[in-house]
Amino acid sequence: MEVTARAVAMWEACEKARQGGARVGFVPTMGALHEGHRSLIQAARMGSGFVVASIFVNPLQFAPTEDLAAYPRPLEQDREMAERMGCDILFTPGEAEIYSHGPPQVRVDPGPLGDRLEEAARPGHFAGVLTVVAKLFNVVGPARAYFGEKDAQQLALIRRMVSDLDIPVAVGAVPTVREPDGLALSSRNAYLSPEERAAAPVLFEALSDAAVRVRRGERNADVIRAEMARTIGAEPLARLDYVAVVDDDTWEDVSEIRSAARALVAARVGPARLIDNLLLPWRPGETMQNSDEASTKG
Ligand code: AMP
Repeated sequence: MEVTARAVAMWEACEKARQGGARVGFVPTMGALHEGHRSLIQAARMGSGFVVASIFVNPLQFAPTEDLAAYPRPLEQDREMAERMGCDILFTPGEAEIYSHGPPQVRVDPGPLGDRLEEAARPGHFAGVLTVVAKLFNVVGPARAYFGEKDAQQLALIRRMVSDLDIPVAVGAVPTVREPDGLALSSRNAYLSPEERAAAPVLFEALSDAAVRVRRGERNADVIRAEMARTIGAEPLARLDYVAVVDDDTWEDVSEIRSAARALVAARVGPARLIDNLLLPWRPGETMQNSDEASTKG
């Protein structure tokens, strides 16, 4: 596996692969790689002849009060893992390489979908995410790029950006990879003490309970929201940020669950702000699993 911190070298390597007839698959990450990232890289491996991953802790998407300085950066370990996970080339730029003229004055506006939920808690977050993803797309020139359902609002916004700005990249969605007790893998789980780690699956518990209720016929989204808030509220080590039930297409809050709806939660557990979500099984007979398998849309 090749490793480069230089955008020009990255572009040249991808261009060479394209000229050799390969389709470039791309997995952008912030590093501290885990099994969730592996799943994205595997999806890229299956869909593309040449697999690129990037590791860049993007300052633009962190609010001043957030964990930019503390974010884990185990670069040596990440290099080994990326190679084992099947990457052909790893892009590890520094801040000066990505923002060589300082913070960008022109940024991608996430629009109304980027106004709520995560954005309300983290103002400026999605403009930072979309701007860096657009920049990375321009450096790599992928045919396909892969994102985790774990960050469902981010995934929806990237799909919207690609479609609204006619960016010629197919977006692949990869189901959330979880610990055996349901906790979604996240680089931020490393912040948890053993007690907090034991409490953290409460997010998935609230979502699973919501899915069970919907499968049993509950259609009132307010009941689902109240139950999710109650479950998380009952865990002394968790501080609820939000619960939501939104239409999986429009991301509007729903009152009745009569089509594909997604339940989302965000909570602070000790120093870590954790998020998770689950597609609700609204069709009779549907299972509790997220149903959109590593599909490419757009
Ligand atoms: P991050 O390094 O946290 O910015 O994540 C990079 C990519 O990995 C994003 O597309 C995330 O949605 C995805 N990702 C993070 N955690 C998981 C997980 N547990 N399962 C699947 N994908 C994930």
